[in-house]
Amino acid sequence: MSANGTPGFALPGIAGEVFVITGAAGGQGAEEALLLASGGARVIAADIQDSAPELLQRAAGLPGRVEYRCLDVTDEAGWAELASSLAGARVKGLVNNAGVTSRVRIGSVERAEWDRVLAINVTGAMLGIQALLPLMGEGCSIVNIGSAAGVTGHYTAAYTTSKWAIRGLSHSAATELGSQGIRVNLVHPGYIHTEMTASAPSAFLDANLRVSPLHRGGQAQEVANVVVFLLSDAASYVTGAEIGVDGGQFLSGVATFLSDAVRPAQEAAAQQVPFTNSAPAKI
Ligand code: NAP
Repeated sequence: MSANGTPGFALPGIAGEVFVITGAAGGQGAEEALLLASGGARVIAADIQDSAPELLQRAAGLPGRVEYRCLDVTDEAGWAELASSLAGARVKGLVNNAGVTSRVRIGSVERAEWDRVLAINVTGAMLGIQALLPLMGEGCSIVNIGSAAGVTGHYTAAYTTSKWAIRGLSHSAATELGSQGIRVNLVHPGYIHTEMTASAPSAFLDANLRVSPLHRGGQAQEVANVVVFLLSDAASYVTGAEIGVDGGQFLSGVATFLSDAVRPAQEAAAQQVPFTNSAPAKI
């Protein structure tokens, strides 16, 4: 069943299982919660917001259920409370999705802002893993949410640093937890249409479209599809992976820019020189 209730492909290891997703009041986290609940899972959707009425309204009637919980991912006591409320249950999957952006450049970023971004985007994920690990075991799965900024030298100093750091956390955890049968993977969204990007200058979207081979932004559901696959048993031999859901941007962004820059001159040259068996014009 898909998140909008239409019949679809059912992934193994989702129905009847418990999942925790942070930053799930809206955006990508909400879509992940809904997709899991549409597959029959029990989802603890946590977010810093007091309530998430829209999420719960959309979840009503799905085969599984979504339970909302107010949680600041930087709050260790909050994580401990969440873990004790789930005592006795097995947490099949954790998605460390909560994140904040900060579009301040290295010359201007202030210490407090730097610390806030790293605390939410990196330390929050570490605290989540530590808190829920005692409830996880063989066959369980953690998905951390990185960013195309985490594999490039994006100008957003604190955000980029936090997303590179979550790669280190993910790989360290994948190495450490593999012997317990727990998989840890990392998803890198590119430009996704959510509240986070709605606040970006329009030039940011235009530039992203230019360097994405698909030349469009992504939808939160397109990220959720990959995250839920990684949580499911269909991905049972996938760990320590970094998967871009970015329209090809992070591996082919520069190549796309170069290709599109060169193409007009190539096409113009091709029109001026009719085909012969001699060597083609060199561009
Ligand atoms: P979003 O709609 O802003 O969702 C992020 C959620 O995290 C928000 O509901 C936010 O609440 C919540 N949050 C913030 N601080 C928190 C905290 N301390 N504890 C718990 N929850 C907290 O953005 P999104 O696009 O879905 O982002 C999801 C993830 O994808 C983030 O890790 C982000 O860095 C990553 N990402 C997004 C994009 C993109 O283009 N959208 C690209 C690359 C990576 P508030 O709204 O109250 O702050």
